[in-house]
Amino acid sequence: MSDYVYPSVLTIAGSDSGGGAGIQADLKTFAALGCYGTSAITALTAQNTQGVSSIYGIPAGILSGQILAVLGDIRPSAIKIGMLYNKEQIESVVSALIQYPGIPVVIDPVMKATAGQNLIQEVAIPAMRDLLFPLVTLITPNLDEASILSNMTVTNEQQMQDAAQEMLKTGCYGVLVKGGHLKTETLCNVYADGAGLIRKYFSSRVETANTHGTGCTLSSAIAAYLALGEQLDMAIERAGIFVQNALIAGKNVKTGKGKGPLNHFFA
Ligand code: PLP
Repeated sequence: MSDYVYPSVLTIAGSDSGGGAGIQADLKTFAALGCYGTSAITALTAQNTQGVSSIYGIPAGILSGQILAVLGDIRPSAIKIGMLYNKEQIESVVSALIQYPGIPVVIDPVMKATAGQNLIQEVAIPAMRDLLFPLVTLITPNLDEASILSNMTVTNEQQMQDAAQEMLKTGCYGVLVKGGHLKTETLCNVYADGAGLIRKYFSSRVETANTHGTGCTLSSAIAAYLALGEQLDMAIERAGIFVQNALIAGKNVKTGKGKGPLNHFFA
């Protein structure tokens, strides 16, 4: 009989029936990186590689039930938060995190699917910023999300840095603004934290249409590396390399008619 404890990670996120993003991408990432994944589902999306056709938000009480069941038993070493559908769900997550302090939390403040559908009710965004961000280790907005959260235009590296400083005022420990949508050859993610550290992570662009679930995978990989004991800085760097390799591994694989997924297991 062994008492080895497998590093575990909880994802609080939406289900993507097409398997490329959301909970499905998160659990694949955890498994590929050697972590035990648990999940609390916030929404069911009817979705494929071409887009989202409908969304059902899970009632806040059922969401709480899932989170507390996991936290009370298989205590995770890190938590990833993805799609949150409404204000009641955000309040449930806040209340659960307050009951279990000290676990690193990475939140991907998901707002819209690439195909354009809203994944969060717009009225819930202030609650996410004001109630949830003060409790988290890292937020990972893309350019559009950074622009909404900082109330600034964010289209280049300097603006990414300025927006990150603005978002730090919410009380989160760190911000990673993702430059995947920059119109540059080399991609740049900008990190800033409350201790005054600013760091840029560069990578070359992988030419592929198979990018569905990239943001979900990055935030999950950061959480997984934190669970494995990496410092935040190194967790971000290693997660970026993992995403890059998963994009390369899935580059020529045809899944569905639209934007296909990454390949997590050959990364
Ligand atoms: N569906 C769910 C459930 C998600 O959580 C996300 C992103 O976080 C998406 C869809 C969007 O993925 P993408 O923008 O890669 O299409």
